[in-house]
Amino acid sequence: MPGFASLVDQKRPVRLLAAAISSGNLPHAFLFTGIEGIGKKTAAMTFAMACNCFNLQKGYPAEHPEATLAERSLVEPCGRCRSCKKIISGNHPDIILVKPAGAMIKVDQIRALCSKLVLKPYEANTRIAIIADAQKLNPEAGNTLLKTLEEPPEHTVFILTTLQASDILPTVVSRCQQIRFNPISSNSLQTYIENTHGLDATEASVIASMAGGSITRSELMTKSNWIDKRNWIINELEALPSRSVNLCLAFSEALSKNKDRVFTAFEIMKNWLRDIVVYNYAPEKIINTDLSEQIKISAKKTTINALVFKIRAIEKAERDIKANSNLRLTLDTLMITLSKGH
Ligand SMILES: [Zn+2]
Repeated sequence: MPGFASLVDQKRPVRLLAAAISSGNLPHAFLFTGIEGIGKKTAAMTFAMACNCFNLQKGYPAEHPEATLAERSLVEPCGRCRSCKKIISGNHPDIILVKPAGAMIKVDQIRALCSKLVLKPYEANTRIAIIADAQKLNPEAGNTLLKTLEEPPEHTVFILTTLQASDILPTVVSRCQQIRFNPISSNSLQTYIENTHGLDATEASVIASMAGGSITRSELMTKSNWIDKRNWIINELEALPSRSVNLCLAFSEALSKNKDRVFTAFEIMKNWLRDIVVYNYAPEKIINTDLSEQIKISAKKTTINALVFKIRAIEKAERDIKANSNLRLTLDTLMITLSKGH
């Protein structure tokens, strides 16, 4: 069930939101900041439910026996009343979500929102207007929103979500109470993946350490068989020195078919080479924990200098591609460089 307790690793935001509801003193606007995929939108929906629940609960549900005494006194929406059900199914007329249409949130979308907010809420105690990815408000839309925030409509709380406050007009930020959401710790991510996707501990640990603290990213990785793709890239990378030029170029051709995938492949390669460097000094610190045997063998066959040389070559290719150099040409050069082994 969606609820504050379902948010992973966001104790402080949950405490602040629950306390605001308990105090009965709600700000006109919140700004939720933090990287993609860590629960900002879930928190906004839960807050909307808690503000309007007919049967507001106290305390984390029974499936969270680890909750502290303070957490047990926090409010939590019931998830079953008419209001909660409408919000969960996306059918509540007073919980309004605005998100980018294409690349931007356009001024017409904000005008449409503001004209709704002039009227009284249909049925909610507290109407919630969620503006997701507010960094995509175009300047005109941002200024229109600002005017409404300066004279906030009654019984309404705005929740803006964005990556960082500096991406938004400072005049808008100053009208909001900012709540920072943290990246999820590797340990919590690992437990989450094990519990929700049934992965074994070793695979879950690798994905958790590569997901950059984002639940959404870890789920995408799990669903797209990321481990298999990683294995393919590492095997190709390791085989390069023993291969003909033609085969090296075949690898770069395969990678070049998808520009986004190239950057993921670079991350995988750098982490792999880093693991081989780290293995000799602190084997417990490797990321690809499920491949420790292979890392051990590779570490015996190479030198730190050769590894650092390869990591630098990958970083250079990464910079060049970001600066719009020819993708295929850059990859070809990189693969030939990596195959030299040094
Ligand atoms: Zn409810």
